[in-house]
Amino acid sequence: MIEIDGSAGEGGGQIVRTSLALAMLTGAAITIRNVRARRSNPGLRAQHLAAVRAAAAISGASVHGATLASGELRFAPGRVLAGHYEIDVGTAGSTLLVLQTIVPALSFCSGPSEVTLHGGTHNPRAPSFEFVHDAYLPLLARLGFTVRLALERHGFYPRGGGLIRASIGPFRGGAALELTERGALVSKSARVLLSRLPAHIGEREIAVLRNRLELLESACSINAVAARSAGNTVHVRIDSTHVSTVFCGFGMRGLPAEELAAGLAAEVNQYLRANVALDSHLADQILIPLALAAGGCVTTMTPSGHTKTNADIIKVFLPIRIDLRELHSGRWLITVSPRPGEGPRARGERVDYDPEHD
Ligand code: ATP
Repeated sequence: MIEIDGSAGEGGGQIVRTSLALAMLTGAAITIRNVRARRSNPGLRAQHLAAVRAAAAISGASVHGATLASGELRFAPGRVLAGHYEIDVGTAGSTLLVLQTIVPALSFCSGPSEVTLHGGTHNPRAPSFEFVHDAYLPLLARLGFTVRLALERHGFYPRGGGLIRASIGPFRGGAALELTERGALVSKSARVLLSRLPAHIGEREIAVLRNRLELLESACSINAVAARSAGNTVHVRIDSTHVSTVFCGFGMRGLPAEELAAGLAAEVNQYLRANVALDSHLADQILIPLALAAGGCVTTMTPSGHTKTNADIIKVFLPIRIDLRELHSGRWLITVSPRPGEGPRARGERVDYDPEHD
């Protein structure tokens, strides 16, 4: 039984998702106490409960404490099985965060899985569909993961109703990822999504982005999408020779379109000025895939609380070294390496793992 303190570091939902993902891969039973203790609404919320349900479904786990606002969760995984799964977050909570919880375990099964998820697809403070599709999954592919993702319906807060489908094939393996230079800028583009909102919102956002990011008119688009709730997101995609990154701003009631776009442009410019490959969101989310594959090194900006906390939790489960080192002011190197002497089996590489018979 591994005990996890949910109030450590960032003290949010990521501790729950990372612990579930790695419990399934190592076969370890876990108890998480003080779940999301550093949040103003502590305990499990709908999105975290959906992640627990999804993890339990794919691993036949026995679960205690999986109720709304619960501060303690026990999760004892069984055998992880590839297959067809349908998961409904039940609210507008992020489907992408739920997906990230189960991709690692399903990737180390011998057969393919098809997963359908209902809920939010564009949530503030979570990776958007475009971020996952255009930035996160291409990095996973380079590490040997085989995940395809399609968006069938957008889901915004508060009504959700989005729909994504993921196909997850067996992990193929590969060399360590060395991504210390992003290379030359190849292209910059911006895309506004609007659901049930007037076009002028998108036009004002694009005007600010074009001005602050020196974007060509042809690199900007505004798309009306059909969703159950009103919604507005702005994505900026930066393609460099060695990596693509995606930045997302979320429209909110009371937040003027110009302010949203200016905040997003500032975030993008900070990345463009920094001599790094990955933005801070990619940096925290790539740690599990790096740890399960052959490891590697990436450069990023000053590590966020999410990155440091995720590294700490991963090290509880896996015999792995994760070093965060500042190379220059604001330029950090993250190195993930299996500990010498520990074989791939110890990193969770296994096929349809069954703890009872291992
Ligand atoms: P809570 O903070 O309420 O516990 P949570 O369960 O959503 O919420 P966090 O622990 O905050 O979880 O983790 C949020 C995750 O979403 C992190 O991996 C973070 O990098 C990612 N994320 C947040 N904002 C963005 C963004 N704009 N683009 C990409 N990823 C994002």
